[in-house]
Amino acid sequence: MRLVLLGAPGSGKGTQSQKLVDKHGIPQVSTGDLLRDAVARQTPLGMQAKAAMDAGKLVDDAIVLALLRERLARRDAKRGFILDGYPRNVAQADTLAAMLEETRQPLDAVVLMDVDTRVLFRRLTGRRTCRRCGRVFNVYTHPPTGLRDCKGGKEHDLFQRPDDNEATISNRLEVYEAQTQPLVSYYRRRRLLKVVDAEGELDVVFARLEDALADAAAAASPREQRRPVRSRRASGRAKGSSVNDTLKGAARKAARIEKKAEKTARKTVKRAEKQAKRTVAKAEKAARKTVKRAKKTAKRKVATARKAIRKAARPSLAKRTKRAVGKVASRVRKATKPSAKTRVKRAIRKASRRLKR
Ligand SMILES: [Zn+2]
Repeated sequence: MRLVLLGAPGSGKGTQSQKLVDKHGIPQVSTGDLLRDAVARQTPLGMQAKAAMDAGKLVDDAIVLALLRERLARRDAKRGFILDGYPRNVAQADTLAAMLEETRQPLDAVVLMDVDTRVLFRRLTGRRTCRRCGRVFNVYTHPPTGLRDCKGGKEHDLFQRPDDNEATISNRLEVYEAQTQPLVSYYRRRRLLKVVDAEGELDVVFARLEDALADAAAAASPREQRRPVRSRRASGRAKGSSVNDTLKGAARKAARIEKKAEKTARKTVKRAEKQAKRTVAKAEKAARKTVKRAKKTAKRKVATARKAIRKAARPSLAKRTKRAVGKVASRVRKATKPSAKTRVKRAIRKASRRLKR
């Protein structure tokens, strides 16, 4: 049985492949372990890998593939193997497929260990490895059972891997998400993908894993068992279609969510536009009011100014008084003028007085 285990960091694929190793007697091959081992033994490939790791870079695909080829050529991998942590992207999947075809060890199945991201965080912070025996535990989900069940009846010497610290976890999960989706599609297209719900008790998950692998194991078994193989394959197809249905459902749900988000966005934009229009209208109204008020004030000021000018242009009080007095005097004179009769009488009196003299 030749398998690839896909799963986020903390999806439990390491633990589950250990269980597969115990049950089926095939080696679990982790490219991480291969690299660490090559670095520790200071092999040429190991030295190259170390240079990249020290620079904080990913190790070149060619180095990893070479290490893998070396490892899978060993006797214990003849009956099968479990690849853990490789491939990480479609390019690696392609080169791996080419290499395995060359060595006549094609994959039987690719298992996706499916776990919710929130669950992953909790699992990752609890992961511990034994320095002495290399076994992986989890202080939350898979603590060491006995006090002295390590090598030589000693206690396990647990430590947290440096790449399990919380600061790097979210980055690793993001990278995983971005890289694994295309890989999942890649293996689904090749009908190799098995999705296993990897949340819950270890043994329950392992049972699900075994169930998913039943088809692969059957497909890999000898010729004389072809008949049962076919029937199992048929049931496998049914399972596959149910997985497909689940995926279709998820896609539909995603589409619905996307549509809803779009609608909300459109609504928000509309609301913003309406508010902007309202604000502009208000500003215009205020501007119009200000102009009106300014015009009124200006009119009032002009009127006042005109009044002032008129006032300033008026003759002085003394002159006006003199003119008024003159007018009154002339009117008095006119009013006090004797009539023609009186004036004739007076003239006659005057003339008679002159005659008398
Ligand atoms: Zn140990």
